Amino acid sequence: MIWNETVECMSREEMRKLQSIRLKNVVERAYHNTPFYRAKMQEMGITPDDIASIDDITKLPFTVKQDLRGNYPFGLMAVPMSEVVRLHASSGTTGKPIVVGYTRKDLSIWSEVVARCLAACGVTRNDAVQVSYGYGLFTGGLGLHNGIENLGGTVIPMSSGNTQKQIQIMHDFGAKVLACTPSYALFLAEAIKDSGIPREEFQLKTGVFGAEPWTENMRKDIEEKLGIKAYDIYGLTEIIGPGVGSECEHQDGTHLWEDHFFPELIDPVTLQPVEPGQPGELVFTTITKEGMPMIRYRTRDLTTLNYEPCACGRTAVRMSKILGRSDDMLIIRGVNVFPSQVESVILEMEEFEPHYLLVVDRVNNTDTLEVQVELRAEFYTDEMSKMIALKKKIAHNLQSVLGISPAIKIVEPRSIERSQGKAKRVIDNRKLI
Ligand code: ADP
Ligand code: ZN
Repeated sequence: MIWNETVECMSREEMRKLQSIRLKNVVERAYHNTPFYRAKMQEMGITPDDIASIDDITKLPFTVKQDLRGNYPFGLMAVPMSEVVRLHASSGTTGKPIVVGYTRKDLSIWSEVVARCLAACGVTRNDAVQVSYGYGLFTGGLGLHNGIENLGGTVIPMSSGNTQKQIQIMHDFGAKVLACTPSYALFLAEAIKDSGIPREEFQLKTGVFGAEPWTENMRKDIEEKLGIKAYDIYGLTEIIGPGVGSECEHQDGTHLWEDHFFPELIDPVTLQPVEPGQPGELVFTTITKEGMPMIRYRTRDLTTLNYEPCACGRTAVRMSKILGRSDDMLIIRGVNVFPSQVESVILEMEEFEPHYLLVVDRVNNTDTLEVQVELRAEFYTDEMSKMIALKKKIAHNLQSVLGISPAIKIVEPRSIERSQGKAKRVIDNRKLI
């Protein structure tokens, strides 16, 4: 179902018009109400009068995470605090948390965009949705929560953790949809298997997973283990939280709700727009947000954009799966390595569990990378030669994808820590030196 056909299926021309009006409006507000934005625009010698349409967006300055930290906690608000009805903070995957504030209207936009995502993933008002994203300052739990209520579905507000109870409630309440991080979905799948409750006794049919990068191979694995269809939902605290976009039933990219969040793709080095179809860093401008508008916010997320209409009927632009954050990119002996590349290799090998850890270090001034993988119990053997052959096989597969040869450590089943929120895939000991 299409939740808001008028905007989700709007012609590109109409969309540009709407975006132009909204951009002018948000720039006015940011300029007059937020000293930070005014100073930045003045530095570039521009005023809101220089913004006549969405094409002028490239005249505006970028905003980066450091700007949010530098104005901690409320320096970037564009309304008096009396208008702010909710605060959230990022989970701080990459450092000190950042704070965002929502007005009443921002919250209603948020529940609108999350409802669009859920509808695109096939969730209906007849479905009970178990929200196993964390509730609290993290945007995941409450973001999904309000969107489900807006859609008319039934929320089961579990939050993350307490895995045994998650399973019991999912079973007893007949949850049809699970919303959590893909890594927690895997953990739940493992725990369901251990619980001994037959899978047929669960009514789960759909997963709405996001908040961290995950590969197509991970999707297949989760779908098989839970017997569901798994959809990707995307968002970030700075822009609104979950609900910036999601996949539709065709799963050919993530539709972005560009009537609220205007996307650009730039080359992270030159900061210039990339050629159409080329990968780049995603930049968003929140063209309707009141509380804390973001002007050309650099997400650090790397992706591509596709403006062709989708088979589902939506015209909303689609982004490809996030390759990773530029923050997550490891440079090992000069070679760029993303955890998602390692993930895609491991998940293609039946001998290993879908849990892994990258340990990076520097020994004698040389970077080292160790990939820890868990052997599936049924592949365990005390025949040394077989284990050595297996190690060689995975080393070869990783080498051909990464372009470097990591050390491999095969560890016992269940020894890599399971995540209840965002998984930690990398330990970089070089930073401690
Ligand atoms: P933090 O920056 O502390 O992790 P957020 O919860 O705001 O806090 O995280 C947002 C980030 O999470 C995004 O910028 C992106 O890197 C990642 N993310 C969110 N959803 C997805 C998704 N569906 N696929 C890949 N990455 C995602
Ligand atoms: Zn679509």
